[in-house]
Amino acid sequence: MNPVELVRGSAPVILALPHTGTWLPDAVRARLTPLGLTLGDTDWHVERLYADLLPGASTVRATFHRYLIDANRDPSGASLYPGQNTTGLVPTTDFDGSPLWHEPPSEAQIERRRQAFHAPYHAALAAEIARVRAQHGVAILYDCHSIRSVVPYLFEGTLPDFNIGTDEGRTCTPVVERTVERICRDAKGFSTVLNGRFKGGWTVRHHARPGHGVHAVQMELAQRTHLSTETPPFGYDADKATRLREPLRAVLEALSTLAPSLTAPADTRPTTDATVDATTDATAHQEPAR
Ligand SMILES: [Zn+2]
Repeated sequence: MNPVELVRGSAPVILALPHTGTWLPDAVRARLTPLGLTLGDTDWHVERLYADLLPGASTVRATFHRYLIDANRDPSGASLYPGQNTTGLVPTTDFDGSPLWHEPPSEAQIERRRQAFHAPYHAALAAEIARVRAQHGVAILYDCHSIRSVVPYLFEGTLPDFNIGTDEGRTCTPVVERTVERICRDAKGFSTVLNGRFKGGWTVRHHARPGHGVHAVQMELAQRTHLSTETPPFGYDADKATRLREPLRAVLEALSTLAPSLTAPADTRPTTDATVDATTDATAHQEPAR
């Protein structure tokens, strides 16, 4: 059982899919409560939603279910959102706070899962980021997610359609964040928030190195945008998905187009600040004179 499916592409954009896998070992499945067996907190059909949206994009997908071990949590077990309700590295409850296990896993079992599933997934993602960055001088990691629109245990009210997370701007250079946000806000019939309840999980926080050409954005989609029901059987709504795929395609194409400009050295990047321009020019003229 390979914990990761990797498709190497020619584009500077990498799609990560940590929560679409549904595989669980039989012995683990046997310990889930009836609620747990519904696998309710899966990012249902997100791989189908993004399929072929950006030809040439790499994809890195976890094949195991998040109830085995959550690929978008800190492997140390540290909370993503200290002080708020959230689910852990191996969740003990679902998003409503209801128990998932007849018998929760032991520390030793969690450690084995960390080594057998969490670590290989992130090693594959890190290797793909390094390969893409070596080829293009830059890599843009786009972490794909979805969640129910209403989850009182996690947040008040109804979630906007597009929830963009950059850890308050730490995971990418500002133009990447602005590009994604602008396209989402311009998409008719959809609502958008930047760094709202979902600011980006461990994946984007861990892999992003904006100062070294690795930019990361998390996209958490409200599931009403592409599911017929947000309860079992979690059906894919092809008409909704067709509408949603338009702005998603625009986002991915814009990131791919933007990428080459992110590799330029700081002193040749266009700027609107005249003072900086003058300083940069002076430096540029001095260098060849010596
Ligand atoms: Zn997710």
